[in-house]
Formats: sequence, C-alpha cells, structure tokens
Amino acid sequence: MGDERCAHELVVGQCTECAPVPRGLVARVYVTSGGSVFHRATNCEALHDGQRKARRFGRDNHVPQQIGVSVALAEGRGACIPCFPDFRPSAEAKPCRVLVNGAWVPGLLTQWRRGPDGRWSGVVTCIADGDQVTVTKDQTELRPA
Ligand SMILES: [Zn+2]
Ligand SMILES: [Zn+2]
Repeated sequence: MGDERCAHELVVGQCTECAPVPRGLVARVYVTSGGSVFHRATNCEALHDGQRKARRFGRDNHVPQQIGVSVALAEGRGACIPCFPDFRPSAEAKPCRVLVNGAWVPGLLTQWRRGPDGRWSGVVTCIADGDQVTVTKDQTELRPA
C-alpha cells in the first residue's frame, strides 16, 4: 500500500479522523471522561443529567471534549440515543419510547422476550437517571416511537 499519508500525517487507512462516519452519526462528537456515551452537542439534556448526577455523588465534572467519532466508538462508547435518533447500532435495533420514572423517553429496542406467564418484555437501551443503560422492560412500559 506504500505510505500514502492523509491530511493528519497518518498512513491512509489507519487514521481515525479520516475513517468513514457510520450512518446517523457525525464525524466529531463530544465526550466526558466520566460518561460512557458520546453526544452530538454539548447542550444535550442527557449529558447535563449525567453531569448533575456526577456532582451529586461528589465526582469530578469534566468539561466535554470533542473527539473523532471513530475514536469514541473504538473506546467502547455508545451513541447517545436522544442526540443520534437515526443511528442504529445493529440491524435489529428499533426506535421506541420507554417509560422511565413516569416519562416516555426515546430508546432502542433490540429484542422481545416472552415470559412463562405469556407476557412480553423488551430489551431496550435508553437514558435513565443520567446513564445510558440496557434494561428489560415490560410490554406496558414500551411503545412505538
Ligand atoms: Zn486523517
Ligand atoms: Zn446526548
């Protein structure tokens, strides 16, 4: 392949800045060192909730840093669902609404399960109390987006 270099002086194909952006995401995203997800913008409500929670537990609040989306993904961070409503981390993921603390929030449903009592529950990723979590919710706590 030779050593063709990109605008960032890195070997083409190894540069995370130049890597293609997955559908529904943007090239540059915001992260905080305490958070596990990345955001489109710093005015995200979920990001602020996370920071409020960090303060409540006496943890340091970190100023959001802008990084390349491929770096964020390589670090194992997930896309903030409210920031990236069009991103699907997998082919099975379906947008939905989830009842969390009395409010319907955006979520991504990945799987339905039927319990021994015949009731359905869904495995869903959503923001709860400032953290993006994957939980199992009863059918009454899920509805289409
Ligand atoms: Zn580059
Ligand atoms: Zn966000």
